[in-house]
Parts: sequence; C-alpha cells; structure tokens
Amino acid sequence: MTKTALITGITGQDGSYLADLLLDKGYQVVGIVRRSTNYRYPNIDHLIGRVTLAYADLIDADALGDIIRRHQPDEVYNLAAQSVPADSWSQPIVTGEITALGAVRMMEAVRRHQPDARFYQATSREIYGGVPQEIVDEQTPFLANNPYGIAKLYAHLMTVNYRESYGMFACAGMLFNHESPRRGLHFVTRKVTMGAACIKLGITNPPLNEAGEPLVRDGKLKMGNLDAYRDWGYAKEYVEAMWLMLQQDTPQDYVIGTNTAYSIRDLCRVAFDHVGLNWEDHVETDERFLRPTEIFAQRGNPAKAKADLGWEPRTYFEELTRLMVDSDLALLSK
Ligand code: NAP
Repeated sequence: MTKTALITGITGQDGSYLADLLLDKGYQVVGIVRRSTNYRYPNIDHLIGRVTLAYADLIDADALGDIIRRHQPDEVYNLAAQSVPADSWSQPIVTGEITALGAVRMMEAVRRHQPDARFYQATSREIYGGVPQEIVDEQTPFLANNPYGIAKLYAHLMTVNYRESYGMFACAGMLFNHESPRRGLHFVTRKVTMGAACIKLGITNPPLNEAGEPLVRDGKLKMGNLDAYRDWGYAKEYVEAMWLMLQQDTPQDYVIGTNTAYSIRDLCRVAFDHVGLNWEDHVETDERFLRPTEIFAQRGNPAKAKADLGWEPRTYFEELTRLMVDSDLALLSK
C-alpha cells in the first residue's frame, strides 16, 4: 500500500531533498507551506504536480490538526522552523513560537488525529551550544547558548517526552550543519559560495545579505567570525538519515555529522580558490555579523547512526564547497 508522508518546511533545503527521496521511494508526499503574498518556491519548482501542498503556519494548531486529520500520514517530518540561528537574537519570540512551540503543535496534531504516525523532529547541534567537548555524541549533555538552540532544545525534549508519555514513535535527529545548492542565502556556506561566484562573474546586482545590503560590493564580501569551526555535510545525504530513523523497530535519537571540522576561513579559501581568486583580497570582517555567543561543539560523531541505521556521510567539506560554488556560478550564468 502506498505510504503517505507529511513534511513541514517542504520549501526549505531539507524539506525539498526529503520530498525528492520519498517520491523516489514511492511515497505520496504532502508538504505544508505557509501562506505568502509571493508564491515562489524555487526549491520545489521541480516537484509541483508531484506533491500535494497544504497551507498552514506552524503557529496555527487548528490548521495543522485539520491537515493531519485530512491526510492521515504514516510519517510526519517536522522540518519547519525559524531556522537561522543568527536571526534568533533579533527575533527571539518568533523563534520560540515557531521553532519550539510549533513542534509541539505538530506533535499534538499527530497525537490527537493520527497517533500511530511516526514523527521526526529536526533537532540541531545547537542544543549542545556551549559544551566544552569538541566531539559530540548522543551521551553529550545539552548546553544550548543561543535563542535558536534553546528553542530547539525545548522541541527536542518535548519529542522525547511525547515518546515516553504517550508511546508515540517520535525520533529526533541532532543534525550538524548540512549544506547544498538549495541552502538559504543567509547561511554562511551559501553566502560564501554565492559571494565568490558573484565576484568571479563581476555581478553588479547581487542578491542581498542578511543586513539587506548587496552581498558583494566593490569586489568585497563582508563576513563575521572567520575562526568559528563547523562540521559541514551534504543535505541530500542527511535527509536519508531522517527517513532511516523512522524505519527502525524502536524510536531513538541520533547525532548526524561527518566528525570533521573546518573554519569559516577554510570555507572562504576553498570557495575562492575554486574560482581562481585569493580569498584574502575579497573577504572582510564586519562586527555586525559576529554572534554574541559562539558554539564550541564542533564535530558530530555519527557512530551510532552508522551502527543502527547503516548511515554514514559520503560527501565531505571540500567537495561540498566546490559543488556549491559550481552551482552558484551556473545559476548566475543563466
Ligand atoms: P530552511 O531551508 O530554512 O527551511 C525552513 C522551512 O521552514 C522553510 O520551508 C520555511 O518556509 C518553513 N517555515 C518557517 N517558518 C514557518 C512557519 N511559521 N510555518 C510554516 N513553515 C515555516 O531550513 P533547512 O536547512 O531545510 O532545515 C530544516 C530543519 O532542520 C529546520 O528545522 C532547521 O532548524 C533544522 N536544522 C537544520 C540544519 C542545517 O544545517 N540545515 C542543522 C540542524 C537542524 P518558507 O520557505 O516560507 O520560509
């Protein structure tokens, strides 16, 4: 029998890759989209007609409940969030409403209307925030240190609580950073790959950065802390881990990462090298883009995911950065 999967955040990076994966596996896919005055969904343009779209905001419990009741999904993936950690300082309340309480509204909708559905919650490595350990696994204590991480931690603990209190098949993936050509432009990897591509091609009307200014101006790209380290993997592979978690006999939570770490400086070097430019001629630091608190947990150890799910990363930092630069060059050349 055809299975139905419901994805919140289908217009985002992960939601769109997950929809690709589930369609390939023969699922019927329903995607929740929030109402907009401007119906542009570039990440799912290629899926229009193949997925069913349902309109709701994660703030609206009734609308979410109606959608679950109507579609009776077998699997529910809650990927929608105010997902930009940097924006969570300027918008802490909306971050709490969507990223924390939005997850609970989804779990309540499932519990009330389709309690046998399997539920996936998109947790983040940011729930570990200020822990001193460089390498994180499922035993590492949580120490979120920014409004986004704290909202994700609330949603994470509620996922565990719905599993324990109601016996729901609810899993959380503690995913380290994962990137792709579909990554939002306000995330650091895409900012750098798009910046390098714009400078290389001499683009005079670049997209806007997170401050609402041209991303590059006079051949310069403005960045925050170049010494921050991240564990970057490929989003297309990380959505496979989400699906695998929901196919197990028992629901559990998993750390997903590559167990490698590179700095933003490394990212700039690899991206600009790839277009034949010296990054130091083009990247400037700008205090406005510094985070008030930095994350110390640098690498996610996916050993448990490998043992239980058979999941492991295949694409690593340098290859990933280059494929994103190539994609941005192609996009701009159109
Ligand atoms: P993304 O590209 O920013 O996508 C976020 C999605 O959430 C978009 O579809 C967005 O819709 C939707 N959304 C935002 N507010 C909403 C609301 N109020 N109601 C309904 N939908 C709403 O994020 P992503 O990179 O795919 O990440 C997917 C999930 O994993 C997120 O929860 C993120 O926090 C989490 N996560 C991501 C990473 C990572 O490195 N990518 C790591 C750990 C955890 P619009 O298109 O309308 O904005």
